[in-house]
Amino acid sequence: MKSFKVVDFNGPLQEVDQETPQPSGTQVLLKVKAAGVCHSDLHIWEGGYDLGHGRKPLSLRDRGVSLPRTMGHETVGEVLAFGPDVTAEDKDDLAIGDVALVYPWLGCGHCAICLAGDENMCLQPNSLGVYCDGGYADHMTVPNPKYLLNLRGLDPVTAAPYACSGVTTYSALKKVASDLHTPIVIFGAGGLGLMALSLLRAMGGKGAIVVDIDARKRAAAEQAGALATVDGTAPDALEQLVSKAGGPIRAVIDLVGNAKTSQLGFDCLTKGGKLVIVGLFGGGATWALPLIPIKAITIQGSYVGNLRETRELLDLVRTAHIAPIPVTPMPLAKANQALVDLQQGRLVGRAVLTP
Ligand SMILES: [Zn+2]
Ligand SMILES: [Zn+2]
Repeated sequence: MKSFKVVDFNGPLQEVDQETPQPSGTQVLLKVKAAGVCHSDLHIWEGGYDLGHGRKPLSLRDRGVSLPRTMGHETVGEVLAFGPDVTAEDKDDLAIGDVALVYPWLGCGHCAICLAGDENMCLQPNSLGVYCDGGYADHMTVPNPKYLLNLRGLDPVTAAPYACSGVTTYSALKKVASDLHTPIVIFGAGGLGLMALSLLRAMGGKGAIVVDIDARKRAAAEQAGALATVDGTAPDALEQLVSKAGGPIRAVIDLVGNAKTSQLGFDCLTKGGKLVIVGLFGGGATWALPLIPIKAITIQGSYVGNLRETRELLDLVRTAHIAPIPVTPMPLAKANQALVDLQQGRLVGRAVLTP
């Protein structure tokens, strides 16, 4: 088994060869077919997040991310073997040779939050590719078959990103589900933003006004069906948003998450509106606190999504024939290059490693 591991935060990934593990207990052994390189892998690789206001960065080491670690939380694999304790009931519709998406956002598995199906919110996270080894490898073990979602014919390379960027966007849209009949505002026209536009359409939404500071990305958003776009750096960005929405803005999804986007997102909301922050760009917020109660604004964070939402998302992709987001397949051996390219903004579409 070959894997590419972070051995030092910020250092080059190291290629590690070891014996391919045999699945024990309820584990399932997969042959990796695709592993998406996600922007949050950069944060793991760099070891933390910028919290703004000159605060010490949020360190992943302090949060229990130990090294060496095989990253990769957007993984599709072919089932090679089940552990001895996997029952027929556990396997459900999964058989040897099936190709499945790995749900990576695991918790402890036994607390009330996990038992309620919100493992992504568990206080003892065990996310694959973050706290446990993930998909930057040619093989991978998953603790239980229930975390494997049979792709049933979906393409492995374009389906891999549904495990993170897909379910992240889907879960954020669900948080404003009651406002989707009105135009919503989306900050960020990168991969997540384009994914949000196609999911929004599939969910029957009215559409979105997309804010991005990059003209090429705004053009991409318009091509992907945005109702309108706004340059976030324009001095009249707020007025443009309000006029292009043609009515009160009830919902904002901030896929960037920096001081400017969260401020503009907050300012454009009408009374009772909701700002959902998804992006982890970093920094601090300077909202005028009295406006939060006066406008009765809800500010909600959204972190990935749960297993149920991931299942719903794959069903939606299949039934609504959602077009895949652009991907750049790269050989696994180029894992390090893929990260550097992502860090330097050189990637077109999402890099997906294929062993
Ligand atoms: Zn991710
Ligand atoms: Zn738990």
